[in-house]
Amino acid sequence: MTEGKRLAGRKIVITGAASGIGKAVAELFMSEGASVGLLDLDATGAAATLGENSGASAGVDVTDERSVETAVGEVAEAMGGIDGVVNAAGIMLTGKLLDMPVDAWRKQIDVNLDGTYLVIRACLPHLQKAEAATVVNIASAQGLLPNAPGLSSYAASKGAVVAVSRSLAAELAPAIRVNSVCPGLVDTPMGAPYMQNSGNYALGRPADPTEIAESILWLSSPASSYVTGAALAVDGGRSFH
Ligand code: NAD
Repeated sequence: MTEGKRLAGRKIVITGAASGIGKAVAELFMSEGASVGLLDLDATGAAATLGENSGASAGVDVTDERSVETAVGEVAEAMGGIDGVVNAAGIMLTGKLLDMPVDAWRKQIDVNLDGTYLVIRACLPHLQKAEAATVVNIASAQGLLPNAPGLSSYAASKGAVVAVSRSLAAELAPAIRVNSVCPGLVDTPMGAPYMQNSGNYALGRPADPTEIAESILWLSSPASSYVTGAALAVDGGRSFH
């Protein structure tokens, strides 16, 4: 029964679905009636998130154009189309500028920015056939207001995700809405080493991934039908500091 559910009948591709925010998004979307196409470098983890729910899962490396085309094609066929995409695959490599090898800088941009671009690019022909299609990219509070030593390449990748989201919102309107979500600290495997840093946040605690997933659901559903090009801070008030 999907009647009355917030994503009834929607077919949504979610990257990074094996862990953290992407996994929480997948679980919430499945519980709200969506069919999901779950993608991750960790194919076993993506399949475990899907369980017996409606949709499909596949392994993907979002930095590899061919891998993305193949995986998106597979899940699109299994779901019978794509109405929306959530880009949650990402990495955070830290290091002050001279301590970070050039390869690490490039890897960060490759996964967080180019990966987002390649997934949207592969989904676009499907989104163009859908009704009220949506794209939600997970950026970061560090992409809106960078303020931390050792995070310059991460902040650069996430600021670029905000910029791409806004540009595409203009390019793809009115058929496809494109927004980004900018979390502060979130209690996931990526955020775990930094949990003690949440003292600066107005709410004084890190987010649970389900709290980020709710904002992504809103941006992926008709409830946000007049919102495009937004960079939504879901950061417990970090932006005020
Ligand atoms: P996570 O490490 O728990 O999950 C990230 C997932 O992305 C993993 O399952 C991983 O396998 C997958 N992934 C990594 N590289 C990939 C690749 N090349 N191809 C396909 N999949 C790949 O991290 P998370 O905290 O859930 O992060 C999700 C997103 O949210 C990331 O973009 C991250 O930058 C962003 N974010 C996280 C926080 C935080 O505090 N956790 C804060 C702000 C933004």
